Amino acid sequence: MSFKSPTSDDVFNRWLEKAKGGSIKKLYDMDKEKVSAAESVKNVNKSVIFVAEVETTAKKIDEKPIKHPLTFKKTSDIVFYKPESAQVYANKKSGKVEVPLFDTLKEVKCKKCGGTGKIVCKVCNGKGHQTCKTCKGSGRLKCEKCNGSGALIHEVAVVDKEGKKRKEQLKQNCPECFGEQKTICPTCGGLGEHRCDECKGVGAHHCDECRGAGTLLEFKQAIFQSPKEKEEYAVHAEKRYEFLKKDIPEVMPLVAGIKIKSSAELTKDKIEPILGYYNEIVDKLLKDSKNEFTKLEKEDLVKSPIQMLPLLHLQCEGKKDKKFDIFSIGTEDGFRVLDKGVP
Ligand SMILES: [Zn+2]
Ligand SMILES: [Zn+2]
Ligand SMILES: [Zn+2]
Ligand SMILES: [Zn+2]
Repeated sequence: MSFKSPTSDDVFNRWLEKAKGGSIKKLYDMDKEKVSAAESVKNVNKSVIFVAEVETTAKKIDEKPIKHPLTFKKTSDIVFYKPESAQVYANKKSGKVEVPLFDTLKEVKCKKCGGTGKIVCKVCNGKGHQTCKTCKGSGRLKCEKCNGSGALIHEVAVVDKEGKKRKEQLKQNCPECFGEQKTICPTCGGLGEHRCDECKGVGAHHCDECRGAGTLLEFKQAIFQSPKEKEEYAVHAEKRYEFLKKDIPEVMPLVAGIKIKSSAELTKDKIEPILGYYNEIVDKLLKDSKNEFTKLEKEDLVKSPIQMLPLLHLQCEGKKDKKFDIFSIGTEDGFRVLDKGVP
């Protein structure tokens, strides 16, 4: 197989056929019939474009549950997808995409609290109250007024028949404790216990994992591998001709190229005989293409054979100083002419 690009005359005449009268007037100032390729084409640059159709849709590579179940509140911040909408979503992204799947959403018991939602208070052991520290649980305190005797002693002076004065003791019921020797503990009001300081009487704490609900939510995520490029074609052209890339989707169905089985064949040995020439620019283009297509092939994203498309760049001149460029993409069996910036 050889590099069968159309001749520059073919390209020029194809352009001329379709050129508008106005354009010819501006460029030549003469009738279309008098315009000739021989006089117009001043120089021809040959180049080549490598193109392959690539996968633009995301590929589902896995589906796995999230590592840790989430609370209902946290889950409510997540956007979930149905299987079909997951695909649409992933198609718009690039690289590895994780998509939460609504249909896999399920409630699971919280492992930390065993589904109760609570952690029992260690201080009161879940009772909600603790033994009064002031009275140590008795509810009563020794009466300080009578020092726990229940009585107050008063003395009176008594003179006997010898005229001697002596003291006589009078015992009174202690008015503070009503003679009962003990008073009610003011801390617990006599109950001997009070509300647990630690848990404020609840007897438990909210489980910090499930926030008291006892359950969490678990779901699966679909993992998609999405191509980085969203273009339908991977295109490699010389830097100076990269502006032609955007025309590729339109011209591809209409042109013929030289098919190359895989990136493994993008080597000097294979390409040089087809091109019939080789230089530094072609070498760089070939290496860049090979790298890129190898990567795409590894990811299984190449959908068509790689095509080598001859590119002709005709540098033309009309009347004095009216320079313009015409490009052709494709082999002589099928090529498209593009006039870029022709008035
Ligand atoms: Zn819990
Ligand atoms: Zn007392
Ligand atoms: Zn007490
Ligand atoms: Zn407690």
